[in-house]
Amino acid sequence: MTTATSPIRPVRYWNGRPVPFITAWTKEATPPQPIDVIKGHGGDGLGFRDEVAHIDRHYGVPWVRMPAVRGGRPDFVVVHALRQRMAMSRLLCQVCGGPTVGTRADDRTLFLAGSSGGRPITAGERTMSPPVHAVCARLAVQECPPLRDRGWAAALVGYTPVWGVAGPVFHPHTLEQLTNDLCHVPFSDTRRIRWVLATRLVITLEDVTPVTDLDALADEETAVIRAVR
Ligand SMILES: [Zn+2]
Repeated sequence: MTTATSPIRPVRYWNGRPVPFITAWTKEATPPQPIDVIKGHGGDGLGFRDEVAHIDRHYGVPWVRMPAVRGGRPDFVVVHALRQRMAMSRLLCQVCGGPTVGTRADDRTLFLAGSSGGRPITAGERTMSPPVHAVCARLAVQECPPLRDRGWAAALVGYTPVWGVAGPVFHPHTLEQLTNDLCHVPFSDTRRIRWVLATRLVITLEDVTPVTDLDALADEETAVIRAVR
């Protein structure tokens, strides 16, 4: 059921295809980043020349700047860095953008991943892919070509601690880009975390129970949402 008060938000469609909340659109291309070496707590680190800490810096790390307008056409292979972070940090559904917290009686959160060969999601696994509602997962496995054609795995997760970020790492003196755009850097790596421009928030999945029947989960979710409304 989709209403203004439901945690399940209307999913956007483009040319008859659902467009996940975290998908980037062509009008959201990443502009050149005015990065620089700035003085922070504990020494030099990467930042922006005109940095506004509460906008540019999250979890102590500078985050890539990009527009968030959802205009043009969706680019299904590109994830929008800011909506990804928002979805991950607030446990919003990556398909519809609504909150997943409070949609299950057991307070667990559903995660869905592409899985060729049926490899399940396991405890301790890291992911950049935010959670999903069960009904949105059901839509995704029907409509998202990689999931539909190559297979998927799902799990209910009890605990999702933040692990670190992914993004390009820069040289402390020359600011030359040293790694690919999705180098994983844990918050515990206090040296490299100062030189990364974050494009994703990475979490760890703990207390993991694999699930195979999304239909049963979706029915349960609908019952819980009805009960609390
Ligand atoms: Zn959803």
